[in-house]
Amino acid sequence: MIQTTPHILILSGPSGVGKTTVWEALHAKHADQLEKIITTTTRAKREGEVEGKHYYFLAREEFQSRIDSDDMIEYALVHGNYYGSTFQELSRIVELGKYPLYIVDPQGMVHLKPLLQHRGYTVQTFFLLPPSIEELRARLSGRGTEQSDHLELRLANALTEMEEQDFYDHKIINTTLEETLETLAQVVFSGN
Ligand code: ADP
Repeated sequence: MIQTTPHILILSGPSGVGKTTVWEALHAKHADQLEKIITTTTRAKREGEVEGKHYYFLAREEFQSRIDSDDMIEYALVHGNYYGSTFQELSRIVELGKYPLYIVDPQGMVHLKPLLQHRGYTVQTFFLLPPSIEELRARLSGRGTEQSDHLELRLANALTEMEEQDFYDHKIINTTLEETLETLAQVVFSGN
């Protein structure tokens, strides 16, 4: 079992650096040791999304009553929809004896970290970096979700996001997945 006051991990980094990919590989290898905190939201479920896997979907009134009864660790209103995380979700993971992990963009991190610390949690933050800007461009375009005219804008945004890197406890260059996982596991599980 891990400590009673959960030590919360936060993984961030610019768009396209590989946060989702690293999480999937990390989970495949260390599913017994860490678990992603699933966000609770009032936004409508999209096709293919699964309750409890992609999000927990709540009606707005229900989300509001969770806020009122202080059940949300933190939350934000984004484009008219609430997104947040619940104590219930954190307890679920801690009771399994696993590390809770947030995966957020750098903007989310700025909001999240002080809120968690204010709640008395210890956080360990990780910033994923691309091996090079050219590789970041390739990953952003390779993801296939970007139209080419959006690519330059995405890349410019990602470069701005990278300016946040020095505010993190650990910076990890996402070279090969294997190396990234090894470095992450070393820091998280052996405290190096
Ligand atoms: P993010 O969640 O940070 O926006 P993704 O996980 O969606 O990024 O990854 C963006 C693209 O980069 C994907 O096409 C993914 O396959 C690729 N990618 C991620 N990590 C690596 C890596 N270590 N080596 C090569 N390609 C990677």
